[in-house]
Amino acid sequence: MNKSRIYIAYTGGTIGMKHTEHGHAPCSGYLESALRAQPEFQNDSLPDIVFQEYPNLIDSSNITLQHWNELAEDIQQRYDDFDGFVILHGTDTMAYSAAALSFMLQNLGKPVIFTGSQIPFAELRSDARDNLIGAIQLAASSKIPEVSLYFHNTLYRGNCCTKTDSSGFAAYQSPNYPNLASVGIDIKINHQVILEQPSERLKLTRMEHNEIGTLHIFPGISAKVLENYLRQPVKGLILLTYGSGNIPSDDAELVKLISNASARGVVIVNCSQCLSGKVNMSAYETGNILERAGVVNAGDMMLEACITKLLWLLSQHQDPIIIRQQMSTELCGEIRL
Ligand code: ASP
Repeated sequence: MNKSRIYIAYTGGTIGMKHTEHGHAPCSGYLESALRAQPEFQNDSLPDIVFQEYPNLIDSSNITLQHWNELAEDIQQRYDDFDGFVILHGTDTMAYSAAALSFMLQNLGKPVIFTGSQIPFAELRSDARDNLIGAIQLAASSKIPEVSLYFHNTLYRGNCCTKTDSSGFAAYQSPNYPNLASVGIDIKINHQVILEQPSERLKLTRMEHNEIGTLHIFPGISAKVLENYLRQPVKGLILLTYGSGNIPSDDAELVKLISNASARGVVIVNCSQCLSGKVNMSAYETGNILERAGVVNAGDMMLEACITKLLWLLSQHQDPIIIRQQMSTELCGEIRL
């Protein structure tokens, strides 16, 4: 039987970092030589692997839209040659990148799995080996046609997860959507929650730079701050609201700024500060006021999905009516209203 072919794109992150006098930093060639020295990576039961180190390895805090475009183009170019793709990435922005690629790679029919680690591969007690082997095996055998994120024995939908622990091995959670798979003695795939195979061919849409912002609502927030956030050239603003999507509605100036900005075409999105649950702008008067001001419901979307979806929609459309409508429509498993 033919072996599966897996493409590993190594973009940077702790997984391949070395300790320097200024803290951990990426180091060219270091991860590949550490992998070659590990007997389990020469194991015959692994699929055929092509390992590609990117020329400019980064700490993922430095990720940009340009990196997402290059990564998505790289996958598109090699799409027919491989059965699955593993992206080695820093953990800090991995959920943003996974969500971004889920929108950019429409009609994806093969697994694209992000992984990384909390401790560098070459260090004792590293979580890198398990994360990498699990991701490779899932990419080779699961046939899950989604952008996903594998960490600490769990496969998450890429646009439904978030980094919730900066130091523990179980660094991610998917609070609003079931895990796609779990790895223990056996690999268990949760088939009922996986997207269907697309009938059309992979289509790539690039990310273009656009001015957007996020504003965390808190008791005592000043309307002046919001006014600054809404200045030109901002095209979109994600409000991180209380509970089921509420704001201090007694502040008439705040409400007026929001409805005026909406009326002049700024796409304002209501995303809850709560990790689980969803926005419901009919529940309270303090949330309903946003609906009446033309604010879009982000449902149960994670902030990472909300930001990358807004950027992606602004890359393709100019009409705020279309962007608002698409923002609260499910495109690739990212939202439930
Ligand atoms: N700062 C690192 C990064 O995101 C953290 C990590 O990879 O765990 O690249």
